[in-house]
Amino acid sequence: MSCVENYFAIRKELEQAGKGGVLLLPVSKTVEAPAIRELYDAGVRDFGENRIEVLTPKAEALPKDIRWHFIGRLQSNKVRKILKVAQVIHSVDSIELVERISRIAGEEGVRPKVFLEISVSGEEQKGGFPVARAAELASAAAKAPNITLAGLMTMAPLDADETVCRKVFDGLRACRDELGKALAVALPELSMGMSNDWPAAVACGSTLIRVGSAIFHRP
Ligand SMILES: *Cc1c(COP(=O)(O)O)cnc(C)c1O
Repeated sequence: MSCVENYFAIRKELEQAGKGGVLLLPVSKTVEAPAIRELYDAGVRDFGENRIEVLTPKAEALPKDIRWHFIGRLQSNKVRKILKVAQVIHSVDSIELVERISRIAGEEGVRPKVFLEISVSGEEQKGGFPVARAAELASAAAKAPNITLAGLMTMAPLDADETVCRKVFDGLRACRDELGKALAVALPELSMGMSNDWPAAVACGSTLIRVGSAIFHRP
């Protein structure tokens, strides 16, 4: 099947599950501009990329009304480059990064939408701010003047079974609910779920699923 057919097959599954409001974000990091263009021509406007060196030339080659989501590890010396192309950042996992993004966004005259990446599953997960200290990160983000705090993001451990995935996704939602009560910060969005675990993530309250291989590399 083509990426367009795969995309709409997943959209249909979401709608049939009563989850038509969930944003399906195609993660285009493994494909070139023409595949992205096919989805663009079918009406898709949001795409996810994880490396700025790859994102910048793609963004230059493609229509300007695409909303690019940066979903990769953030290096502080690349924040300015990322803010020049991406409107949404999913992987903000330190207070220093929150402050740096807000400062540079102010200098660049932009206002990125930010997800705080939280490590729910513990050591086996590479990125993410420890869930036990999430309030520190969320209050810094709520105070940062030049970002719009969208919500929280997480990743389940690679190849985890459904029980483990659900524990992680339920954990992120619980963290969001607790922060909402404790700090009175609104965190409306939950970025969780990928090709192999998105149905579990959606069942646990995901509002945005980041899907690469199930769109671009499903035969
Ligand atoms: C690559 C990637 C995805 C998509 O992964 P698939 O398993 O191909 O759907 C989602 N989120 C992040 C952070 C990624 O790096």
